[in-house]
Amino acid sequence: MPTRREKLKLIDKNIKACTKCSLCENRRNTILNEHFPRARLMIVAEPQGGFDKHSGFPLTGKGGKMLARMINALGVRREDLFIESITKCNVSRFRAASQKELQACFPYLCQQIHIVKPHVILSMGTVSTEMLLDTKEPMSRIHGRVFKLKDYEYKDIWVIPTYHPDFIFRTPQKKDEAWDDLSVVRKQLRIASEKALTE
Ligand code: SF4
Repeated sequence: MPTRREKLKLIDKNIKACTKCSLCENRRNTILNEHFPRARLMIVAEPQGGFDKHSGFPLTGKGGKMLARMINALGVRREDLFIESITKCNVSRFRAASQKELQACFPYLCQQIHIVKPHVILSMGTVSTEMLLDTKEPMSRIHGRVFKLKDYEYKDIWVIPTYHPDFIFRTPQKKDEAWDDLSVVRKQLRIASEKALTE
């Protein structure tokens, strides 16, 4: 029986060879981040500007720095964190991923969630949130709320949307709201851990 780590490595291998959508044509790299197979928190963001080759984050530049600050504010140990991208190949800074590309790539994320079974998913930005929650509600209305992920019958996985780090950088007046969302994440992680201890 393959371990979680082996299963994740196989997904990575499939992603590196994937040609399911046109984003593979400009693929310089896929997400490089180290994957912790028993992470309690998964962060999912839409990649903007490529993957940072040092941190492996799906964001570079100011957005990447904002993401690092948010992770710091969460106070989660690195091995409890699984950072993922809604599309596994780079999307140009000058356009968003199309619905076709998002739909083509989404099964990889679903497989990763299925293996890791995080307690909480922090969904950064509208694109990730629309895909994970199948919703068109504006971020201004749903950020910081706790949703149960559908179609994962074996365990409760909670999704908490927040603003995309790039957006927070460009709209600093939203930073307080985003930091409040991070408090909700910390609280939900605590609740989930306490529940896991009694099961
Ligand atoms: S973005 Fe996803 S679906 Fe498209 S080629 Fe890359 S790995 Fe495959």
